[in-house]
Amino acid sequence: MIHQDSRTLLEVRGLRAVVNGIEILKGIDLTVRSGEVHAIMGTNGSGKSTFAKVLAGHSAYEVTGGSVIFEGHNLFDLKPEERARAGVFLAFQYPIEIPGVANSHFLRLAYNTVQEQRGQDELDPLEFDDFVREKMKLLEMNPDFLDRGVNEGFSGGEKKRNEILQMALLEPRVAILDETDSGLDIDALRIVTNGVNQLSTKDNAIILVTHYQRMLNYIVPDFVHVMHAGRIIKTGGKELALELETRGYDWVSAEQRAVAGA
Ligand code: ADP
Ligand code: MG
Repeated sequence: MIHQDSRTLLEVRGLRAVVNGIEILKGIDLTVRSGEVHAIMGTNGSGKSTFAKVLAGHSAYEVTGGSVIFEGHNLFDLKPEERARAGVFLAFQYPIEIPGVANSHFLRLAYNTVQEQRGQDELDPLEFDDFVREKMKLLEMNPDFLDRGVNEGFSGGEKKRNEILQMALLEPRVAILDETDSGLDIDALRIVTNGVNQLSTKDNAIILVTHYQRMLNYIVPDFVHVMHAGRIIKTGGKELALELETRGYDWVSAEQRAVAGA
């Protein structure tokens, strides 16, 4: 929800990025203020995940132009782990499995790292266990998932819940959720989106990357952006998502070509 004393959290200007020698992001502009929910939509291959991964600092992607200011700092001065500690969170479209590393251990490590950065108390395993179980209730997750390897053998939906559990623990400033709705059945979608809504505050911002309008029935965005060929070519309110649902994406790029050609 947009509110009066909001401040700019993320300022993306002319962002360009290359992977394997191919330019994927071709000048992205986006301003995200505290309290806002942004949806980034677009066809497969338009560059949505690339954008998310560039923000998080994925090493495969080389930034070749533009700037990203996060809370007044140059984001690209920060290593990926420093970004995470500073409050940039990415829930991956394809969460990785880390067999052999207990989920509880992984989550506690991540939590304590952020706590240390914020000058707040770290939790020992017993304290953390109580704390994380409380958070798991929000996502209706069975505590058994603490003892398993990180995402090891988790179903698609279980991985997505585990990603949002991380978000609940880390309380990021800017959370980027990449296709968190994919692979969720309708009950899981309701639970996960309800969790995200409870984590959305006037001090943070959420960027939902999604192909489908479906999730936006549950998490109502303030802005909807359409990504096409590595650029944001249209921005609107929540009604734009509904229009995309009925009309598809082609008309947006046609409209853009018409404007560019005029
Ligand atoms: P979206 O998330 O919108 O579906 P992506 O950001 O995943 O799109 O991909 C955008 C384009 O970049 C696609 O054409 C994809 O094949 C290409 N791409 C992404 N990552 C790589 C990579 N590591 N190597 C080569 N091409 C890539
Ligand atoms: Mg993607």
